[in-house]
Amino acid sequence: MTLLDRARSGITDEIRFVSDSEGIDAEVIRNLLCKGEIVILQNNSKRADPVGVGSMLSTKVNANVGTSTTSSSLEEEVEKARAGVESGADTVMDLSTGGNLDLIRQSILGAVNAPVGTVPLYQAACKHTSIADISSDEMFNVLRQHCRDGVDFVTVHAGVNRNSLRELESSNRILGVVSRGGAITTAWMLQHDSENPFYSEFDYLLEILSEYDVVASLGDGMRPGCIHDSSDRPEYTELITLGELVERCRRAGVQCMVEGPGHVPLDEIETSVRAMKYLSKGAPVYLLGPLVTDLAPGYDHFTAAIGGAIAGMHGADFLCVTTPAEHLALPTSEDIRNGVMVTRIAAHAIDLVKDGQRKSARRMDNEIARARRDLNWQRQLELAIDPEHARRTHSRSKETDVCSMCGELCAIKVMNDTTKK
Ligand code: SF4
Repeated sequence: MTLLDRARSGITDEIRFVSDSEGIDAEVIRNLLCKGEIVILQNNSKRADPVGVGSMLSTKVNANVGTSTTSSSLEEEVEKARAGVESGADTVMDLSTGGNLDLIRQSILGAVNAPVGTVPLYQAACKHTSIADISSDEMFNVLRQHCRDGVDFVTVHAGVNRNSLRELESSNRILGVVSRGGAITTAWMLQHDSENPFYSEFDYLLEILSEYDVVASLGDGMRPGCIHDSSDRPEYTELITLGELVERCRRAGVQCMVEGPGHVPLDEIETSVRAMKYLSKGAPVYLLGPLVTDLAPGYDHFTAAIGGAIAGMHGADFLCVTTPAEHLALPTSEDIRNGVMVTRIAAHAIDLVKDGQRKSARRMDNEIARARRDLNWQRQLELAIDPEHARRTHSRSKETDVCSMCGELCAIKVMNDTTKK
């Protein structure tokens, strides 16, 4: 039985674990899990501690790692996975497409105590020089292999089907399809003049996920790749299909979440997230960004965090890290660290206004504010989201009770001295 099946009859160990780590009553979590508003990421091999994602729970952060076809080093990708988790990422996705993919995935699974996700279709595509040569059996076999290895969640672009493709062909997009999984699926469908196997044989896909209790992350293969392409018919057509697939996941006892765009201007983010929540009947929303402008390569960890924070305010539950290398190169460990930190800031900003998290998140802000008021530097640096970075910056100030920003005209000191008299 899957966790979702077991949760329907009572509180499970996984629910208890998430309840303790989130400080939320186990019955509340069980109820939300049964409704599909929460997922708990943990393969039935129980390789890593479970992590909950969704309503009422703290906003989670995922770090992507993985080789590419032009750059591949097993050691570097394992190091990046560790760097992501050490910087505070809750999960890691291995998106490798170069080198020994089985070994890289298994090494990452062995290196981190965090749920790991993958996109199995990438590996099926890597086996061939032409996408047309991938067989539908291979797609499912690779998926099964990932589940058997202990992967906790998989992105499947099952919503890319003939309907969304028709909308794509008649759209005026600048960038067409920018999702890697979406592009592979689209190319395969066009070359075979056939339906997407992950869509047409979705029940079989669910059987595999159910066997290993792996969470389905329903990918957004038609996500907009630039501001111009945002909120168009291909995107929303796919989203309607994803809503239908969510219901089929739940009926099969498979937990699922829905992935979202992409590149979205500020004034469309609320509608986009609310539509995802509405069409998926409250499934956890996992966002890639959204990036709020196309103009900032090199700074896209900021453009994504701005969009992520606004999306979270309207219901997004899970933020995928965008690094400063986005659109430019394969990220380094340092890029991953920077991306995770900026995304964690967005996630905490969301928690400050999120039902279920508001109180504990505000307690943390109040504690650092009191340390700041008391000019208690040690405590303030300890409580910072990135203590090491804060400490390094503060070390530029001389060792006095104030910092070098305002010196003896420190407003806090002036007021503390004045009110003490
Ligand atoms: S010196 Fe200025 S910046 Fe530094 S703690 Fe005092 S008020 Fe804040």
